[in-house]
Amino acid sequence: MKRNRKIKILATLGPASANEEMIEKLFVAGADVFRINMSHAGHDLMRNLVRIIRNIEARHGRPIGILADLQGPKLRVGAFRNGREELTIGQKFTLDDNQEPGDRNRVFLPHPEILESVKPGERLYIDDGKLQLVAEKCDGHSIECKVLAGTVISDRKGVSLPDTVLNVGAMTPKDHEDLRAVLKEDIDWIALSFIQRPEDIEEARQITGDKVAILAKIEKPQAVKRIREIIKVTDAVMVARGDLGVEVPLEDVPGIQIDIIHACRKAGKPVVVATQMLESMIGSPVPTRAEVSDVANAIFQGADTIMLSAESAAGQYPVEAVATMDKIACKIEREANYPRLIHAGQAEPEATEADAVSLAARQIAETLNLPAIVAFTRSGSTGVRISRERPEKRILALSPLVETARRLALVWGIHSVVTDDVRDISAMIGHACSIAHDEGFAGEGKKIIITAGVPFGRSGTTNMLRIAAVDEYRKKA
Ligand code: PGA
Ligand code: MN
Repeated sequence: MKRNRKIKILATLGPASANEEMIEKLFVAGADVFRINMSHAGHDLMRNLVRIIRNIEARHGRPIGILADLQGPKLRVGAFRNGREELTIGQKFTLDDNQEPGDRNRVFLPHPEILESVKPGERLYIDDGKLQLVAEKCDGHSIECKVLAGTVISDRKGVSLPDTVLNVGAMTPKDHEDLRAVLKEDIDWIALSFIQRPEDIEEARQITGDKVAILAKIEKPQAVKRIREIIKVTDAVMVARGDLGVEVPLEDVPGIQIDIIHACRKAGKPVVVATQMLESMIGSPVPTRAEVSDVANAIFQGADTIMLSAESAAGQYPVEAVATMDKIACKIEREANYPRLIHAGQAEPEATEADAVSLAARQIAETLNLPAIVAFTRSGSTGVRISRERPEKRILALSPLVETARRLALVWGIHSVVTDDVRDISAMIGHACSIAHDEGFAGEGKKIIITAGVPFGRSGTTNMLRIAAVDEYRKKA
């Protein structure tokens, strides 16, 4: 099975889609990677979903990526005596460490780290910004605030702190427990939520080693400020527009999206655009014009992956939502303006052998009009560097490691195939030609361009280019 687009689709699983029949439909409709949201999925459900996805993968013979999304430090207020309270603008309201139910003047805040970190003048957004407070007096045990906007507060509403750098890592005790369970399964990526600093990724990496790749969700202004340092240490990035749009003004989000995509493409790190892409499809079988444009813009900007959240997790039309993204992507990537727009974000190659070979492979494929670039890539790194070139032709990534093939499901333009390790040049050419032919990338009479590393069987050696005629070598495989 071969997709007719280069951008990838990430579909979140949830009540509307957590069964084998539905997940298979989503995969067939175009989902390349599935997200298991650990905020909602328990460990048994998570294991069950992994088993289902791996069954589907085996049935279709195509690597599928799985991303486990850790909840992160999502902050909430405690409960109220009456469930909810009406406040007035300008009144004082206190968040404190007293576990008693709240009233019109105060509520429990079960996060000592916030009580210690917030300083006068910093804002607190409750319930996705519907209620806005500003801190006036802070003593480490309580924060006395003034109500700036909004009038309703109720049990366990979320708290966002756009101005405060919190003295906490990105992983809560629940995240540690979830991560331990995730690391025992065949899961390819983890997502870290509400990160603030590059150290948050390094902290997780200490635990994961290279068992999973790490995706950093950018949903706090603190992370936006340090995006370039974060990109250096992470394996991928998500423009998490949902929570980001609570913590920064909404009109800042599109510019931040462009900046993050650009920085990720420069660094060669996959970047996902997420949240509300086809929001109306939660309840409608067709998207709005504005949503189609939003998806198209992410494609024109050169994002690696576009994501569905509630549309595929809890909506009434999960399959239609995936099929709609697929259809938009197939059309947009064939627009006359697409090559010009996508190459506007092109970055120069770095001075490495892998980048020099990647650029040359792209140029050869385009000059000779070859249908595919076939890359032998053990760790996946060469696959990602070729993808960074955003070549006009398709990339076939061949790896002996199924883990690599699955991770690359998140990367722009890559169709990955698991193949035996090759030990000499003739096996390399034979494999490349057979697979390019059998996967439907290069028909009779076509040539392909192959990249590989000699000596074979080691990572980080990409140093070779070879043009080969498919018919001539295919039989020798
Ligand atoms: P979430 O992350 O769906 O886990 O909240 C994405 C976002 O905030 O945009
Ligand atoms: Mn979020």
